[in-house]
Amino acid sequence: MSPEQFREEGKKLIDWIADYYEQVEKYPVLSQVQPGNITKQLPNNAPEKGEEFSTVMKDVEQIIMPGITHWQSPNFFAYFQSNNSFPSILGDLLSSGLGVQGMLWATSPACTELETRVMDWLVDLKGLPKHFKSTENGGGVIQDTASSAVLAALLAARERKTNFACNQTGDNSGLVAYISTQTHSSVEKGVKVMGLGTDRLRRIEVDRHFAMRPDLLEKQIQQDLEAGLKPFFVCATIGTTSSNAVDPIEAIGRVCRQHSIWLHVDAAMSGTAALLPDYRQYFEGLELADSYAFNPHKWMFTNFDCDCFWVADKAVLIKTLSILPEYLKNEATEKGAVIDYRDWHVQLGRRFRSLKLWFVLRHYGAEGLRYHINQHIELTQLFTEWVKDSDDFELLSEPPFNLVLFRHTKGNEFNKYLMDCLNKDGKIYLTHTVLNGTFWLRMSIGQTQTEERHVQEAWRLIKEKAETL
Ligand code: PLP
Repeated sequence: MSPEQFREEGKKLIDWIADYYEQVEKYPVLSQVQPGNITKQLPNNAPEKGEEFSTVMKDVEQIIMPGITHWQSPNFFAYFQSNNSFPSILGDLLSSGLGVQGMLWATSPACTELETRVMDWLVDLKGLPKHFKSTENGGGVIQDTASSAVLAALLAARERKTNFACNQTGDNSGLVAYISTQTHSSVEKGVKVMGLGTDRLRRIEVDRHFAMRPDLLEKQIQQDLEAGLKPFFVCATIGTTSSNAVDPIEAIGRVCRQHSIWLHVDAAMSGTAALLPDYRQYFEGLELADSYAFNPHKWMFTNFDCDCFWVADKAVLIKTLSILPEYLKNEATEKGAVIDYRDWHVQLGRRFRSLKLWFVLRHYGAEGLRYHINQHIELTQLFTEWVKDSDDFELLSEPPFNLVLFRHTKGNEFNKYLMDCLNKDGKIYLTHTVLNGTFWLRMSIGQTQTEERHVQEAWRLIKEKAETL
């Protein structure tokens, strides 16, 4: 493709995307195709001869689009957000256009320095402890996902506990990690990847609000110490996936400090709420955390993938993951004058992700971000009030942020049927969780284009469907 053709097709594609956003709420939110439907329309082999871009785009419309679940629809209330914005799309496009591989400072200084600056900005914007800043002992790095962030935290925690011996000997023996029964499965996966064995992952019981019980954590740690084991890692969550529960970070942090255990705090979706000073009480205790992660690709208008991960002591993370083969050596690295983000995560190569985050921060400004996040929380509170006022539906508890758990009073089977019917209709998309054997509908409100009318319509559809079943 020549630059001229690129210019032409690129403009058409931008128009196509803009049209898509203008029409997105008209599509059935959940893709209605059956397994294999897309595959059978695709040829078995890659084309021998190159094709026109317009032919490819025709197939996008005819084959691909029916298989899209419209995450950017304002009627998407399922799982958690993955909200997007035009400045973010443009930032991603520019990143693709520049095609930078930012593994070292030297391979594109701007890729590293912009990332460091943006991560420091976010520490201030979210009121995070200053020790996470690059100007202190800590620092932030953009990871692809919260799963990668927790893996990096697990590895650094392991090395700190074993005095960096595990890196050399591979001897994991005796190490024990702790999560709650509600912690996201990414920690279990991280534990598997690091070769620890899931029998060394303790699941601490939760209280009636589904938050980890620090007293039981302490008890389990004591038992493990008495058995000669080495507790090394705790993951606490601000906004659990199932029910948005908030673990008591400060109390958990004190337990961790007492036993020299690494505390990682996962605020994948709900971390964005810290932009609002009124919601900072949920983040109290973060000064006791060794690492912290949240995903702008969930609820901060930044398209996938973008996880922000901070450590309080960057030296530990870097010592854990640093490898410098001959072919990567360069003057800036050897003088120790720069950050080389390749030492901050598992993979070597890295995209210029901070561009899209920078575009988002500059487009909205802190004020704009606070306004939109606050809107989502207010819509959530409105929906909560409607549920509370209804005789047919009940609420799990007051939502702290933007996720409501509610159910029809008719029981598990009915609620599952209600959800399946609503999703099949395609006008809205909801998902569920099961807590202590009870089926709850989850309504997560935070897509970029979601307005009060969408939430109102969703509630009307839910009630109407429930009446007709
Ligand atoms: N942690 C929490 C609390 C989550 O809700 C999720 C995703 O749902 C994750 C971690 C995993 O996120 P990612 O897809 O970025 O790995």
